[in-house]
Amino acid sequence: MSASDDSLEAAGVDGAIQADVVIVGAGPCGLFQIFELGLLGIHAHIIDSLQHPGGQCSELYPEKPIYDIPALPVCGAQELVDRLLQQAKPFNAQFHMGQEVTELKVLPDHTFLLRTSNDTRFHARTVIVAGGLGSFQPRRLGCEGADAFEGTHIHYKVKSAADFTGKRLLIFGGGDSALDWTLEFAGKARSVTLVHRRNEFRAAPASVAKMRDLVSSGSMRYVEAIAQSLISEGGNFQGVRLKKTDGQVEDVHADRALVFFGLHPKLGPIANWGLGIDKRAIQVDTEKFQTNIPGIFAVGDINTYPGKKKLILSGFHEAALAAFAVAAHLNPAKKIPLQYTTTSPIMQKRLGVGAEP
Ligand SMILES: Cc1cc2nc3c(=O)[nH]c(=O)nc-3n(C[C@H](O)[C@H](O)[C@H](O)COP(=O)(O)OP(=O)(O)OC[C@H]3O[C@@H](n4cnc5c(N)ncnc54)[C@H](O)[C@@H]3O)c2cc1C
Repeated sequence: MSASDDSLEAAGVDGAIQADVVIVGAGPCGLFQIFELGLLGIHAHIIDSLQHPGGQCSELYPEKPIYDIPALPVCGAQELVDRLLQQAKPFNAQFHMGQEVTELKVLPDHTFLLRTSNDTRFHARTVIVAGGLGSFQPRRLGCEGADAFEGTHIHYKVKSAADFTGKRLLIFGGGDSALDWTLEFAGKARSVTLVHRRNEFRAAPASVAKMRDLVSSGSMRYVEAIAQSLISEGGNFQGVRLKKTDGQVEDVHADRALVFFGLHPKLGPIANWGLGIDKRAIQVDTEKFQTNIPGIFAVGDINTYPGKKKLILSGFHEAALAAFAVAAHLNPAKKIPLQYTTTSPIMQKRLGVGAEP
């Protein structure tokens, strides 16, 4: 064994999963990255701390329509994720879900060792960080004992709207999510009470105006207040005690509380990997979307460069260029020609749709 083999072994490479490329984050950009790499004949491993792929689309707004995906005039957020998974399917990426990448080390031979929260190790020749907002957490209600009801009576996202119809709902927040769901459930739920701490809203003015009309017509209530404590009896959730801005206290009985106080983005372990960071995003160039460490790339919401816009379509463009850069990094001597999926027999073979090359 050579000296460098010794140092690799000491670094913990032995027994690690060997990979040409590891993608950190299975949001929409990580999923499209699989596809773009696959077209160039590169197989990917992809890791996400969530149990399911889809990132923000699946986690935060699965049932909302998206209108700015090229060639899809309207597409549900979860539908987009399903389509991306279907598109990436021919490339058989290996998904490693429910584990956070906690460590990323540069090894003496300029390859990388990644370690996850359940102690899986990957020895990768290149890494693409598609970590979005990082390990994000919704801001919690902040009442004592609320954790015990999380996912049963207190919710920070709507997985299925059907779970809430016919129920007495307390909705907290003043942003788009709070207002959109208020409007969605008014008339479908048994009752809706929107609670916001002040009379100014971050949500679209048209949504706020609709909400006020519903209040005027008696279809729902609006209370300017904060949550003071939970009302529970015998361990059962009964509602929330509110402290109103005029100092009065009101008990609102409800079956479910929906809380939309926004995300609390936490870059998490990514901040400790020696990457150039600016305002909680990874600095990249706009040719390869490479970070300050050669061989580590970053695409999607996690990266920053002059003019960056955190849009899904920007991440798709970045993924295409990063794939070419990864191919060049893996095989510097080989020229990578631009090929069209329409006409390239080799790409069509990789996609499983065409004739032999
Ligand atoms: C309500 C709402 C509506 C939106 N509407 C639109 C719209 O109409 N059009 C549009 O273009 N964009 C929209 N966006 C923005 C869009 O969702 C994001 O731009 C997009 O999700 C970014 O994709 P991504 O793959 O970069 O990151 P994300 O979707 O954030 O996915 C990142 C993934 O990385 C994982 N991750 C992070 N750190 C680690 C780690 N250390 N280890 C393992 N996994 C990790 C996370 O768990 C997550 O699953 C909207 C966002 C919100 C919140």
